[in-house]
Amino acid sequence: MDVSTALRELFALQEKDRELDQIKAEMEKLPPELAELRERREKLLDRLTELKEQLKEVRREYEKNDLELRDLTQKRSKAQEEQLQAESAREATQYENRIQQLSTRIDELTELTLPLVEEMERLEADIQELEGELAGLKPELDRLEEANRERIAELEKTYAELHQERERMAKAIPQRILREYETIRRARKGLGVARMVRVGDTSFRCEACHVQLPTHVAQRVYQGRTTVRCPSCGRLLWRGEG
Ligand SMILES: [Zn+2]
Repeated sequence: MDVSTALRELFALQEKDRELDQIKAEMEKLPPELAELRERREKLLDRLTELKEQLKEVRREYEKNDLELRDLTQKRSKAQEEQLQAESAREATQYENRIQQLSTRIDELTELTLPLVEEMERLEADIQELEGELAGLKPELDRLEEANRERIAELEKTYAELHQERERMAKAIPQRILREYETIRRARKGLGVARMVRVGDTSFRCEACHVQLPTHVAQRVYQGRTTVRCPSCGRLLWRGEG
């Protein structure tokens, strides 16, 4: 196979490679409505975690107060019982003072604890609302995820078929040229071989980078004895069909 023929085959192979690139890009592109819904779900989940964390803290504080309140109430009951059995007025007064102290502390603590109960109720209601919202999102999200999976599976199938075809085409191209093409393609964002385009009667430019080619370069491309690269963008030059 002469170089010009190999380059023609290579150019056709590049068309396949670009199709494959496109399919890959399609696969990675998330449908906007799915992306949006996933983002909403993420936000709701973050908020939910935050609220649950808050609830845990408030509950912990509530339980601590509650425990102390039980303890204080128990102590007060005991003091009240003991007061009844006081053997002197002085002793009764001592119990009375203790009961007073305990009552004051119980009142203070109760006052601190009641807002915690309200806060827990508020947080629980918010959590329930968020969970409802999340549950509401689920059917549509599931539907979109499933559609996306099907879309990707379909693209994968097309990709595999095209890739097989591409490999078949690659076998016909000399290894050296193919490897040179692949290296350039990786470095030059998708294009490894470019057509030469005639400008006027005697000039040519590189179709990929549009730079006008020196005459001796164009001549060498036409002679087709070896591969020639565009002096500007470095891509392999194919003389085209014309
Ligand atoms: Zn070029």
